[in-house]
Amino acid sequence: MLALQGLTPASLAHALPGVTLAEARKVVSAVHRDRDLADPVREVRRVSLDLVRRHGHTPAVEVVRREGSAVDPFVKFLLRSGGDAYETVRIPLERAGRFSVCVSSQVGCAMGCTFCATGRLGLLRNLETWEIVEQVRVVRRDLAREQPSSRVHGVVFQGMGEPLANPDRVLEAIAILTEPSALAIDGRAITVCTSGLPTPIRRLADAAPNVRLGVSIGSARPEVRAEIMPLDRRFPLDLVVDACVYHARKTRLRPMWAVTLLAGVNDTDADADALARLALGFAERAGVPPRISVIPFNPIEAEGASFERTDGAREAAFRDVLRRAGVPTHRRYSGGADVLAACGQLAGRG
Ligand code: SF4
Repeated sequence: MLALQGLTPASLAHALPGVTLAEARKVVSAVHRDRDLADPVREVRRVSLDLVRRHGHTPAVEVVRREGSAVDPFVKFLLRSGGDAYETVRIPLERAGRFSVCVSSQVGCAMGCTFCATGRLGLLRNLETWEIVEQVRVVRRDLAREQPSSRVHGVVFQGMGEPLANPDRVLEAIAILTEPSALAIDGRAITVCTSGLPTPIRRLADAAPNVRLGVSIGSARPEVRAEIMPLDRRFPLDLVVDACVYHARKTRLRPMWAVTLLAGVNDTDADADALARLALGFAERAGVPPRISVIPFNPIEAEGASFERTDGAREAAFRDVLRRAGVPTHRRYSGGADVLAACGQLAGRG
């Protein structure tokens, strides 16, 4: 059976010869507006709709739990499908009434970043295209109930999993999220965040050039990065930055570089200095500077979780080294920590 919410009009028309592209567009529109396909769909012939009904369905994900933060408007959803639990977070944007959805792309993750709860699970499986798209639809439906004038404005692939380790489904999901007859989200309001897989970064630039790239830098000092992000041993930062340059040249979009500050690990002046040099070198080659996000470390519930959050004075000093080098930074407010919805805390607790 075809999961209809995981198809673009082109893929539906391709999967069901006999259904025209124009009809597929109407069907996709009906699916994403939660219309019942047992009813007629305007401008779709009965023979085509019968084909869709026979070969397609709209599977649901179970919302196991909805946890709203008591301190900010973040909401975490624990979802389940195919027997696996994964999480999605509703993130309020600066403009009132607008939200972004932080989606998971895998159940667990194989990358093993030491500061991340998901990384401690290992990889269980890739999520299917429809399961990624459905996360946005769950949040959209929830918003429609709670705040009907609000809307989902953007999507960030920063939940559980390494999205670029599941690139086929992530690219298909992006095609559906941005498709006018489906969710019609502006590609520039979508960010794919990776721990740094060079080849898929290039593929993202080629396949979805209007979508933004986020990269977890960890530290610009190779020995520190290798220690906190095991992936660095396979893909050293130089290779990742080369891929970022390719992405920026192709898309003309500034990448977001994220650094989660860990007390005494990657928050020294030497780390800041190395990051400033990396950013300046990148800007020279790419023609655009990166946007640097400094993320406060959020505690994770796990055996052997030994990191601590950098204190305010050290964080300010770190950012000051960068500022004096001509590299501005911003501090990302990572909300929902009281419901373990903040960056690095998602672990699909069932
Ligand atoms: S930070 Fe991202 S890539 Fe790293 S382990 Fe966590 S989910 Fe995986």
